[in-house]
Amino acid sequence: MQAELVLDTRCGLGEGPVWDEREGWLYWVDIMAGRIHRWRPGTAAQEAMETQEPVGAAALREGGGLVCALQSGFAVAARFGSALEPLACYEGASPELRMNDGKCDTAGRFWAGTMAFDFRPGAGALYRLDPGGAVTRVLDGVTISNGMDWSADGTRMYYIDSPRRTVDVFDFDAAPGAIANRRTVIEIPEEAGVPDGMTLDAEGRIWVALWGGGAVRCYSPEGKLEEVIEVAAPQTTSCCFGGADFDVLFITSARDGLSEEQLAGAPHSGGVFAVRPGARGRAMGRFAG
Ligand code: CA
Repeated sequence: MQAELVLDTRCGLGEGPVWDEREGWLYWVDIMAGRIHRWRPGTAAQEAMETQEPVGAAALREGGGLVCALQSGFAVAARFGSALEPLACYEGASPELRMNDGKCDTAGRFWAGTMAFDFRPGAGALYRLDPGGAVTRVLDGVTISNGMDWSADGTRMYYIDSPRRTVDVFDFDAAPGAIANRRTVIEIPEEAGVPDGMTLDAEGRIWVALWGGGAVRCYSPEGKLEEVIEVAAPQTTSCCFGGADFDVLFITSARDGLSEEQLAGAPHSGGVFAVRPGARGRAMGRFAG
C-alpha cells in the first residue's frame, strides 16, 4: 500500500500529527523551525504559528488552544496563533537538550520526552505534565524519546526510544499516571529504518513511522507485522488517524538528514502524506490544564 502526498509543505523536520475531530484540523510541528502548522484537509485553509524555539510536539487542550513541548519546557497557547505562555520547566533542562515527541493520555496529562542535540546516549528522559502544571520525570536514561500512545482500555502505554529499535510497552496505571514493567513488543530490523512516531488504531494495532525507512508499518497488538505503507519520503516521522470517520492515516515526514541527491529522488520529503489503510483510529487525548 502506498501513501499519497496531500500537502507539499517541505518541512525540515515535520513531526507529531494531531487530529482535531471537533474542528477538522490536522496539526503538526516543524521542530527545528519552531513552527506549528495546521490544515483543514480538503480545503485551502492552512496556517502556521511561530514558537520562537524548537518545538518537539504540540497537543490540543480540552478548553481550546494548545499545549507545547518547547526546547526549554512546557508552554500553552490560549488559541492557535496567540502568544505562548510558559507553564513549567523540566528537571535537567539545558541548552544541550530539547524536548521531542509528546502526546496526551486519556486523563488529560501531557507526556513528552527529551533528547540531546548530539544524540548522547541516555541524556534524555520522559516527563509527565499534569493539568495543574506539575512535571514528573517518569523515565530516565532515554536517548531519543519518541512516539507513544495508550491502549483504549488505558492499561498499557507504548513507547519508542528510537536507538533501541524497539516499541516497548509498560503497564499503565491511569489514576496516578504511573508506568511499570517495561518489555519489548516489536523489534524493528535494521534494514526497515528507525522507529520514530507511532499511533494505535481502534483495534489496538500499532502503526510505527520509520525514519530512514520511507514507510509506516502496522503490527498486531502482539507485535506481528501486518501491513507496510510505503511513503515517498525516506524520513517518515510520525502518523495519526483523522478525517471525519477516523479512517485516514496522516503521515508526516522530514527533509533533515537527506543529501541533495536523496532529495532529488524524494522531492516531496517534508510533506504530509495520507492513506486509507482499512483501519480506524480514535480521538486523541486533550490536555486538561
Ligand atoms: Ca519523532
